[in-house]
Amino acid sequence: MSIPFDNSFAALGSPFSTAQSPDPVKKPSLITVNDELAKQLGIDPRWLASREGVDVLAGNRVAAGSQPVAAAYAGHQFGHFNPQLGDGRAVLLGEVVDDQGQRLDLQLKGSGRTDWSRGGDGRSPLGPVLREYLVSEAMAALGVPSTRALAAVTTGEPVMRDGFEPGAILTRVASSHLRVGTMQYFAAREDRQSLATLVSYVLERHYSDKVDAENPALALLECVISAQARLIARWQLLGFVHGVMNTDNMLLCGETVDYGPCAFMEEYHPDTLFSSIDQQGRYAYSNQPGIAHWNLARLAEALLPLINDDTDTAVGQAKKALSQFPMLLEQAYQEGLGKKLGLSEMTAADNKLADELFAALQEDQADFTLAFRFLADAIKPDAAQSGAGELFSPGKQLLEWLPRWMQRQQSDTVDPEERQERMFAANPAFIPRNHLVQRAIEEGEKGDFALFHRLLERLALATDYSPDDRDLALPAQPQERVLRTFCGT
Ligand code: AMP
Ligand code: MG
Ligand code: MG
Repeated sequence: MSIPFDNSFAALGSPFSTAQSPDPVKKPSLITVNDELAKQLGIDPRWLASREGVDVLAGNRVAAGSQPVAAAYAGHQFGHFNPQLGDGRAVLLGEVVDDQGQRLDLQLKGSGRTDWSRGGDGRSPLGPVLREYLVSEAMAALGVPSTRALAAVTTGEPVMRDGFEPGAILTRVASSHLRVGTMQYFAAREDRQSLATLVSYVLERHYSDKVDAENPALALLECVISAQARLIARWQLLGFVHGVMNTDNMLLCGETVDYGPCAFMEEYHPDTLFSSIDQQGRYAYSNQPGIAHWNLARLAEALLPLINDDTDTAVGQAKKALSQFPMLLEQAYQEGLGKKLGLSEMTAADNKLADELFAALQEDQADFTLAFRFLADAIKPDAAQSGAGELFSPGKQLLEWLPRWMQRQQSDTVDPEERQERMFAANPAFIPRNHLVQRAIEEGEKGDFALFHRLLERLALATDYSPDDRDLALPAQPQERVLRTFCGT
């Protein structure tokens, strides 16, 4: 057997999804296969890279055991509810249970039109496929819950956007693709039975310790609230700006999904925003926690009829659950911030110190990523992982702040070497910088994937600095700066 499929979502049938084979493409050609992820899934990477495997990855062949479907979902896009979105250019090939017993979705993205395509062509240009591959794999390597990339192929067919671009297909792996918007789809149709089916399905698949909860819908809401709080804290700590936090782009399993207009912040500024279509700055860096909370309120609304027959009681219970979100996020954020700063605990005074650091970084227009490596290097400049800090010139404000942090460290019980190790582990030297992703895409469009592969390899070891890859750690030069990202549809 080529891929050990074990499909549970397709088995739910209508109205959750519609059967949909991928559309064949002209001339599929492999860009890359994620060997380690393939092995984790019990798939032979050599087979995936073979003619037969590439045909499966391109949608030219339906693998044995696959039951391709396109899923239904709705969603709030930039605050406006769209009752019918669905997989417009993706098909779920099926699920695989990995070597840890975890069930994972295998999805082709860019594989042709589906029942949910509306006006779209169902295809994806190469650029967004390479961006998603690089950034999602970087996130996963940094330990941030994320969908993964199993493979990428070019289709040999052009895709029309602003002009013609080469077409490509990404094979995406996720704990599941079920979204806040999936629940909203059925809530909007007042299809209580389907909602209840989904609640049980999601609990069993992602939060199995809660399957016997007295109030399953409320338990699910609480689980998603807590998973999202942990996720968004990680984004904030890394300076990751998602860019399109619509409710259809928020997964119930708590993994980051949809790497369309995302980018990492370079100079620290709370208003950082890249997406060209977000004119109001709704999804700017500092708004992410508030937007996640808003999205979770939409999930709560969708679940209300299942939480309690009495609406007032349901609203009270949902509100109570939602009120935990800021606290849970703050807790996760503080814990991560302590690690970033090399402190074994964060006191109220440390919070003030951290606030002053962020004010200094903003004032200095400092690179958010390298600033923390500079701090880590400052503990002991000649350690094996040191060096990234040398790429950073501290500004006036940071130099003023530095002695206070040095002073604070002396009262910490952890010894300096250990503290530095912890800081290296919590602070990447390499992030998928926008100008590098952009350059990898431009070269890829010309058929040269060398930079794409080099970046991919480096980002898998993002917290280990190596001077050989110094050029990949440096922020963009002024002329290289990418200030805007595009949704990449
Ligand atoms: P996104 O903005 O990527 O979250 O996508 C929003 C919705 O638009 C989803 O239902 C997608 O499946 C759909 N969509 C995006 N691009 C295309 C396309 N090229 N063809 C068909 N549907 C698309
Ligand atoms: Mg999306
Ligand atoms: Mg998208």
